[in-house]
Amino acid sequence: MSLKNGVALITGAGSGIGRSVSLKLAEKGMCVVVVDLDEKGGEETLGLIKDSGSEGIFIQADVSKYSDVEKYVSTVKNMYGRIDVFFNNAGILSKPTLLADYSEEMFDRVIAVNLKGAFLGLKHVLKVMEGQQSGVIINTASTAGVQSTAYLGGYSASKHGVVGLTKTAAVEYGSKGIRINAICPGGVETNMTKHMDMNNPEQNGPLRRPASPEEIANVVCFLASEEAGYMNGSIVTIDGGLTA
Ligand code: NAP
Repeated sequence: MSLKNGVALITGAGSGIGRSVSLKLAEKGMCVVVVDLDEKGGEETLGLIKDSGSEGIFIQADVSKYSDVEKYVSTVKNMYGRIDVFFNNAGILSKPTLLADYSEEMFDRVIAVNLKGAFLGLKHVLKVMEGQQSGVIINTASTAGVQSTAYLGGYSASKHGVVGLTKTAAVEYGSKGIRINAICPGGVETNMTKHMDMNNPEQNGPLRRPASPEEIANVVCFLASEEAGYMNGSIVTIDGGLTA
């Protein structure tokens, strides 16, 4: 399937990596469904998509809520009849805290958004893609999903979980014409990291700088395209060599 004229569904699209992927897929001729909890950010992304002459809609939803996920998926299915690309990306960070001091509330929320949100998205979107016997899904994990990450225990656990879901989905659905991969960015300059020191060389690895959202979006668009047609179940680090 070429991306042109296809339908892309993107969560966490109101900001950062999700916004950048939304704009790039719109540029490639896709109709983009912007999903975010943040109404202002979501409407802004939709405005940018429309300014570029592309089509899209915004749906406000909390990815951690079953009824919201059911609603955003059924809205897309009813409006467009299909989902060609799903970027399962919404996520939150937690406050840097030693594990024994990590509060139960913070742990529950991070797992609810980052892991349960990714699971619910997969659960509903895979049904649609199974019906059409085609589709591509890219889940956003993190380098925190493939290596130890001090002070971010809940976040790291949620992203290891996203890696697990990706591998399971890939082996269960590859034979049905659906490819599922995950990306693992290192540090990326977005709203999520605006309060962090992003120039800390230890955090950035050999390239000694954080990524821009566009550099992550380039890889996501490649994974979404036919050029990545043999990639399924891959856990793709985009970290400037941090985990090498
Ligand atoms: P971002 O700029 O904060 O964008 C995330 C978007 O998701 C925000 O608009 C946020 O809204 C939204 N969101 C949060 N909770 C949500 C929920 N329950 N339902 C729906 N939308 C929700 O962050 P980003 O850096 O682009 O992050 C995108 C993904 O990349 C996340 O999964 C993150 O874990 C992952 N990641 C980021 C980095 C990095 O260094 N930035 C590195 C590795 C992985 P609010 O603004 O209202 O919260």
